[in-house]
Amino acid sequence: MTTLNPFKIAQEQLDAAAQRLGLDSATHELLRWPQKELIVTIPIQMDDGKVRVFHGYRVQYNYARGPAKGGLRWHPEETIDTVRALAAWMTWKTAVVDIPLGGGKGGVTCNPKEMSETEKQRLARGYIRAVASMLSVTKDVPAPDVYTTPQIMAWMMDEYETLVGEHHPGVITGKPIPLGGSEGRGDATARGGIYVTREAAKVLGIDLREKTMAIQGFGNAGQHAALLGHELLGLKLVAVSDSRGGIYNPKGMDVKQAVDYKLRTGRLEGFPGAESISNEELLQLDVTVLFPSALENTITSSNAGKIRCKISCELANGPTTPEADDILYQNGVFVLPDFLANAGGVTVSYFEQVQNTYNFYWPLDEVHRRLDEKMTRAFHGVYQLYLKEKVTMRQAAYLVSVARVAEACKLRGWV
Ligand code: NAD
Repeated sequence: MTTLNPFKIAQEQLDAAAQRLGLDSATHELLRWPQKELIVTIPIQMDDGKVRVFHGYRVQYNYARGPAKGGLRWHPEETIDTVRALAAWMTWKTAVVDIPLGGGKGGVTCNPKEMSETEKQRLARGYIRAVASMLSVTKDVPAPDVYTTPQIMAWMMDEYETLVGEHHPGVITGKPIPLGGSEGRGDATARGGIYVTREAAKVLGIDLREKTMAIQGFGNAGQHAALLGHELLGLKLVAVSDSRGGIYNPKGMDVKQAVDYKLRTGRLEGFPGAESISNEELLQLDVTVLFPSALENTITSSNAGKIRCKISCELANGPTTPEADDILYQNGVFVLPDFLANAGGVTVSYFEQVQNTYNFYWPLDEVHRRLDEKMTRAFHGVYQLYLKEKVTMRQAAYLVSVARVAEACKLRGWV
């Protein structure tokens, strides 16, 4: 029986791939656990003068293929196991798109919605001081994730550079463009998802123009998925939700107006011409493409049987549990698994690091072209294995990634 602990789920997914690949027990055991992790306390003076102690984490899951790479999440429910799971998925993600990086992740248990900008800046700097020994361009490179932003990355980069007394823009990615960020990083996660959705529709023989999409989660990933799904694929947005609930209009909503409304008011309810819909109802709509773009464990054994989309493009990490995966597969829902579908973010983060190293920056169209190449190649590699092995797309993606990471561990002589 699977629990909804994301790290147990990540281990279970790996176990299935290890078995199918016939991995030896030492390699399997090595890949079941993080290589290195650090848990810290971060005392921060709040604006009212009182000190609050935050709990922070940095996990380097596997660095056989290159420096650990992965985002930083600031969330009230962040735990070491969430970070471990996300770090594992980062390892498989960098491997599936074949970039020379490992997987890592970090986070702080906090509620940024209740913190001022000055408190966030002190926490960003405090976190970097606490985990600095783990970080460097050749060891481990953080990036944004849920509730962290380019501004937070800028403060973190500045704190790191102050500690080491040198410029090292490549120590963190997702920075604002004037500080060494890459063109195209802002929408890269969603754009990568849109590219693989385009490829999936081609192999499935679906013409996406004027077809419908629903989006759960309306932050960085979800908003850009709405904009690009419409602009690049001609999809019509019929439903969208955030943590407070959702809105629905079967005739379609103006995507730019919906994004502007959310940015202006901080919510979706009250958007003109749309009715309210719960997150659960949104997931069960009969749409062509569903974009789960919020958090883990959204599609579980209790609702998977009611999911009616043709394609589920997982921009969120870990939105579908293993039992739910089997149900979706049996029901003919084509799942673009998280660590393939949302790999556009880390791919452009990698491009950002490359540009930082050369201190020479690419125009936007070059970033888009290179991202499209990486995502399209990764999709077809996984799809070929899906056809050949008759497994879910997620299992096929695991087979590609785990084989690559296992090979690197072997070549290093670790196992
Ligand atoms: P974000 O902070 O910009 O937005 C998160 C959104 O999810 C918000 O709109 C929030 O209201 C919504 N949300 C939170 N809980 C919800 C719930 N229970 N139901 C519905 N909506 C809910 O975060 P993001 O960067 O867009 O990340 C979203 C997902 O995408 C996460 O799983 C993250 O790990 C994944 N991801 C992000 C990136 C990236 O580059 N930003 C890259 C890869 C994967």
